[in-house]
Amino acid sequence: MIEKMELLDVDKLIEEFESMTKDAGNVQRETLKKILEENGCAEYLQNLGLNGKTDPESFKACVPLVTHNDLQPYIQRIVDGSSSPILTGKPITTISLSSGTTQGKPKFVPFNDELMETTLQIYRTSYAFRTREFPIENGKALQLIYSSKQSKTKGGLIAGTATTNVFRNSQFKNTMKAMQSQYCSPDEVIFGPDFHQSLYCHLLCGLIFREEIQFISSTFSHSIVHAFRTFEQVWEELCADIREGVLTSRITFPSVRSAMAKLLKPNPELADLIQKKCLGLNNWYGLILELFPNVKYIYGIMTGSMEPYLKKLRHYARDLPLISADYGSSEGWIGANVNPNVPPELATYVVLPNIGYFEFIPLKENVEEAKPVGLTEVKVGEEYEVIITSFAGLYRYRLGDVVKITGFHNLSPELKFICRRNLMLTINIDKNTEKDLQLAVEAASKLNTEEKLEVLDFSSHVDLSTNPGHYVIFWEISGEVRDEVLEECCNCLDRSFVDAGYVSSRKINAIGPLELRVVQRGTFQKILDHYVGLGAALSQFKTPRCVGSTNNEVLQILCNNVVKSYFSTAF
Ligand code: AMP
Repeated sequence: MIEKMELLDVDKLIEEFESMTKDAGNVQRETLKKILEENGCAEYLQNLGLNGKTDPESFKACVPLVTHNDLQPYIQRIVDGSSSPILTGKPITTISLSSGTTQGKPKFVPFNDELMETTLQIYRTSYAFRTREFPIENGKALQLIYSSKQSKTKGGLIAGTATTNVFRNSQFKNTMKAMQSQYCSPDEVIFGPDFHQSLYCHLLCGLIFREEIQFISSTFSHSIVHAFRTFEQVWEELCADIREGVLTSRITFPSVRSAMAKLLKPNPELADLIQKKCLGLNNWYGLILELFPNVKYIYGIMTGSMEPYLKKLRHYARDLPLISADYGSSEGWIGANVNPNVPPELATYVVLPNIGYFEFIPLKENVEEAKPVGLTEVKVGEEYEVIITSFAGLYRYRLGDVVKITGFHNLSPELKFICRRNLMLTINIDKNTEKDLQLAVEAASKLNTEEKLEVLDFSSHVDLSTNPGHYVIFWEISGEVRDEVLEECCNCLDRSFVDAGYVSSRKINAIGPLELRVVQRGTFQKILDHYVGLGAALSQFKTPRCVGSTNNEVLQILCNNVVKSYFSTAF
């Protein structure tokens, strides 16, 4: 019997979203009230003297702004198994490990049913808007998602990356079905213990179901680019498996092998077809459409630190729409992409006023004195740091992300992700963010295009072992590039940091010449492997764009793989 599937009611979802955003101010008050009522008995709130008050004014007066460091001792007690209400009314039983690429090690944050529900709400909301613009049929999705291991903390709590906690929740699969987004790979592949093997099997499943695939997705778009780069290496092996109906011996996990064996039948026609398509492509341009003829779009977070991968994604996707997925973090979700027509470079996110209580620190003013403003008080055109109060025990928590308000959807702000707040590159009076680095790399890598070369990935480091200190930029590039071109790239990088503090320091040599270090092919894969070894999941991986001296292991990976280095002569 064919199971009748209940699909989500797109019109109803959009209607609900519209009415909620029209009443954003009240919804925020109600949301804060609900959070404080549910968690008022928690030790953290009890100690702050709220005495049962749930209005925003009392909340702001009693509860301080905090960072993860401030909450660390409370979270640690939860992790260690204390069963008293510490941050939330109901005990926390699951912990998320944030990717931690900025600090070099994963952070623990609480995860609970409410956070799961807000995750699904965000998924449903953006799905509704996406489906209205880009309808999909009831096929399958090639979801390049990976679960990390779930482990037990010393206190017996389940710990995994936030995406793992979501993928392992039974509601995830049901929601994917209701969103016509059922992934084509068996669960054993998503939850497989080795992501290299899972990736290979995802690709194989995608090829087996190629005609049914409606869209390709991942949490962060890096995983999509990574997958098709891998495809370039392994396509012949994939074709051989399809031809013979036998899985390559390098997939070693029995659970993954037996799940794949159920799908894999000898299919020489399909193997021939894929082979012909691969051989007919020029430098893999348009690969995705060739492999998956019915794909309607590519979906995944494409903004912020994912922007550098857009060029490669477009190369694979040709003219397929690229739709950026929503904006959130392990700590909680923030906004949904309700304008899927917009290219990722311009993507914005509308804050859902019922998934948390949000405040914003204006960055225009002197930061120490700046007072946070409420959701409906933000001003268009201005930049803010996001503060979250969540259903999972975070109160006035500084997320560390900088966003710009681009407009309002009804009364709820629409924001653009700008960068992480912490300055990445600074030696004295210079201030350069991740965005500045990205723009510099973009400018310099344009010099490369004549040679048809490509910056595959990049990172940076402030080297204070020289006097004066200087910026080091690490590049992994494809192919051989002439020294003259790389020297020019190095000068261009140095000139592209236009921050006045940097330029003036460079002119008087208070900052030394920028150094471009080219690393061997595969270096960034080693960094990825390193993070996965620490418990991160490929799904949430973000290349660390600046590696501090405290992140010694990653710095060593980069430094040990340098093949060439150039110093700028731009100043
Ligand atoms: P994680 O630490 O793995 O939970 O990742 C959360 C962080 O990823 C956020 O704080 C942002 O810095 C970044 N992020 C999440 N969603 C987006 C998005 N849509 N655009 C840009 N950056 C994002």
